Amino acid sequence: MTALCLVELDGGAPADASLRALTLARSLDGEVGAVVFGDAAPEEALADCGVSDAYVIERSAVEGYAPAAWARVLAGLIADTGATAVLAAGTDRGQEVLAHLGAITGLPMAANCVQIVPDGPGMHRVVRQRWAGLLLEDAILEAPAALVTVAADAVAGVSAALPPGGATRGPASIRVHLHKPELADADLRVRAAESPAAAGGMSLATARVVVGGGRGVGGPGGFAALEELADLLGGVVGVSRVVTSEGWRPHSQQVGQTGTKITPEVYLACGISGAIQHIAGCAGARHLIAINTDSGAPILARADYAVIGDLHQVVPALVAALRARREPDAGAAGSV
Ligand SMILES: Cc1cc2nc3c(=O)[nH]c(=O)nc-3n(C[C@H](O)[C@H](O)[C@H](O)COP(=O)(O)OP(=O)(O)OC[C@H]3O[C@@H](n4cnc5c(N)ncnc54)[C@H](O)[C@@H]3O)c2cc1C
Repeated sequence: MTALCLVELDGGAPADASLRALTLARSLDGEVGAVVFGDAAPEEALADCGVSDAYVIERSAVEGYAPAAWARVLAGLIADTGATAVLAAGTDRGQEVLAHLGAITGLPMAANCVQIVPDGPGMHRVVRQRWAGLLLEDAILEAPAALVTVAADAVAGVSAALPPGGATRGPASIRVHLHKPELADADLRVRAAESPAAAGGMSLATARVVVGGGRGVGGPGGFAALEELADLLGGVVGVSRVVTSEGWRPHSQQVGQTGTKITPEVYLACGISGAIQHIAGCAGARHLIAINTDSGAPILARADYAVIGDLHQVVPALVAALRARREPDAGAAGSV
């Protein structure tokens, strides 16, 4: 086995950020094993990504997210499979689990990589992001196994994970191993008591649509319209640091260098200027749409589309248009 990849699940399917990590794992040109914590592996999706083996860690062994336990499982799998690289998405969980894994095994870890290349026995060359992606740094990892997290914007995303022509391998081509590891109580000391998925919600890190709000929203009351828009689009609200510093929204919703790194299909940034620390968290979005009154705002240089206008007019108009499309009769009677 050349590489193991920790695959986080989002509603039973691989999270977009994990698909990106799998894409980088495939670039190592060898067999890739996916490690999945849950009841079952999404075999077809993993096979499409070129995974040869899926290691399913049963819930009876590790219930929910437990970083040290997840790392202990990966340490065991490195020993069992002889993997020479372990990759994970550069999400909060991916970074935390691989940091634990480095501490347990003494193996070196490089975070937020955009490239990994074998460089002779026991050597990997990596290119990793520093300073919130402003700088790319070459590094050599000299170890029996390299531990690497993958920057959210390292690869294009879901479609990049698929082989040319789409699904070709099918679930039959993947070997599934049900794995019940031996864990000590100490490994399970830190465990997530609840998660957005378990509560029926959606996580900012894995949402397909994020509606972002910044200082331009004007205050806590202004977020009702953004919540409504996010609901209609099947997404969640994310915010800039100004918004959390002002206490308008909780830090768990912050996007950026010191917040969550997001990889949605669409990021709709409303009243956000586009500071580099914010971009560090949303550069992995596949499409960025900005709504801003200032045609010179830095975020426009990053946006695929932009509306130059007041979000307090544009967002309600979008909400009304989406509602009208969903309920044509209500739309005809509405005041849009
Ligand atoms: C070490 C460090 C870490 C940081 N980490 C983060 C981080 O993780 N995430 C983060 O976001 N920031 C972070 N920051 C802060 C960052 O530098 C910016 O200060 C912050 O992102 C700005 O937030 P903003 O875009 O909401 O506000 P502003 O920069 O004030 O921009 C507000 C924007 O709203 C527009 N606007 C105003 N009114 C309207 C309206 N009615 N309709 C439409 N547009 C309107 C304005 O034209 C402007 O572009 C960090 C800073 C430091 C130093």
